Amino acid sequence: MRCPVCGQGRIMRSWFRMHKNCPECGALIEREPGFFLGSIYFNYGLTTLIVAIAFPLLLFNGIADSQTLLFTSLAFVLIFPLLFFPLARSLWLGHDQYWDPRTDIPERLP
Ligand SMILES: [Zn+2]
Repeated sequence: MRCPVCGQGRIMRSWFRMHKNCPECGALIEREPGFFLGSIYFNYGLTTLIVAIAFPLLLFNGIADSQTLLFTSLAFVLIFPLLFFPLARSLWLGHDQYWDPRTDIPERLP
């Protein structure tokens, strides 16, 4: 959860709030309005993948009944994305930096 440009500055101010610029190098974190919409792909994708694998695995091995799994899965899909939120944004930032690297790296802030 560090700046993808310098690797030093923390990108999150709190669990759900981000810095506008990297506190270390000053790089703009949200490159354009709606930039972090893409982080939903990581968050939703991982949540869905975990449930899609765990649900049938636990059900068909007789570890839990379908009713229990349904309510557990429901709780999971509501809670997990909130816990994974900063990591999904960090992954999105890293993904963006990898595929569209910033060439205008700002000088270190005083
Ligand atoms: Zn930085």
